[in-house]
Amino acid sequence: MSTHLTDDLPTYEDVVAASHRLAGHAHRTPVLSSRLVDEQLGARVVFKCENLQRAGAFKFRGAFHALSRFTPEQRRAGVVAFSSGNHAQAVSLAASLLGIPATIVMPYDAPAAKVAATKAYGGEVVGYDRYTEDRLAIGQELARSRGLTLLPPYDHPDIIAGQGTAAKELFEEVGTLDALFVPVGGAGLLSGSTLAARALSPGCRVHGVEPAAGDDVRRSLQEGRIVRIDTPETLADGAQTQFMGELPFRILAPEPPEILTATDAELVAEMRTFATYLKLVVEPTGCLGLAGVRGIADRLRGRRIGVIVSGGNIDLPRYADLLGQR
Ligand SMILES: *Cc1c(COP(=O)(O)O)cnc(C)c1O
Repeated sequence: MSTHLTDDLPTYEDVVAASHRLAGHAHRTPVLSSRLVDEQLGARVVFKCENLQRAGAFKFRGAFHALSRFTPEQRRAGVVAFSSGNHAQAVSLAASLLGIPATIVMPYDAPAAKVAATKAYGGEVVGYDRYTEDRLAIGQELARSRGLTLLPPYDHPDIIAGQGTAAKELFEEVGTLDALFVPVGGAGLLSGSTLAARALSPGCRVHGVEPAAGDDVRRSLQEGRIVRIDTPETLADGAQTQFMGELPFRILAPEPPEILTATDAELVAEMRTFATYLKLVVEPTGCLGLAGVRGIADRLRGRRIGVIVSGGNIDLPRYADLLGQR
């Protein structure tokens, strides 16, 4: 069942429009690099640091953009969203900035820091069991009973256009790239980034990177249909999706990007890379892009590579625990 409101696929023009609506509200996040990481990988790598975005992830871009397009009636009634965390925080913060009431459906086992932040930003949190309950059904029931507008995390044109603004900023800052590596859950970020790459750096190869525990996006693009899987068990809680979005699928399918995968151990190794060389706190899901680069580094020698560092929200005890493991 699709959750988007219109059949129109977003285009690069929508990404540009989103960037205007986000100006002065979303951070223009820094682009960092490390000479030592470049030496390790044998390539020139630039990191777009969305872990430093408001609410700690790129999801603020899509959420603020989509909410800023609500009608006055939608704004008054409020928004409902379902999320393992970062979309929840993003909707909660963006809604409160825009004066819109927000209800957030979150799994009981979502990281405590993400639940606490969602509440702190002003959203009302409703819990569910991610392994047995259907969050879409819960969200739709809340939408119906309370007259709220359901804002999905990736399968929505305004969300995709908003997410594409991070890659747009990256290309504007560093010029064209040989390849861009993007973490993938439902593929909102990947499809938005692809719109930006096709317009601003046509020769750039876009790579999606998803958790090895659930390579449904790779399979979907290979098989030409949206493949559904059980919720993958992975440290990458921002990419534990069971199936990619229909709009992202339709944007990507005509020229499918190469999809890579990364194991939990590879993600933890890259959390250490970010802490050690870039002094950045990056959550496991945010490490997917760099893990993807390292996985095919032999094919990237001497190239100019972009990596979207998608988020930095992680409980500190968990962060310390993972960094300390050997
Ligand atoms: C949501 C999220 C992703 C995946 O984004 P999709 O648009 O669902 O593919 C990647 N990284 C982080 C940190 C996220 O919060």
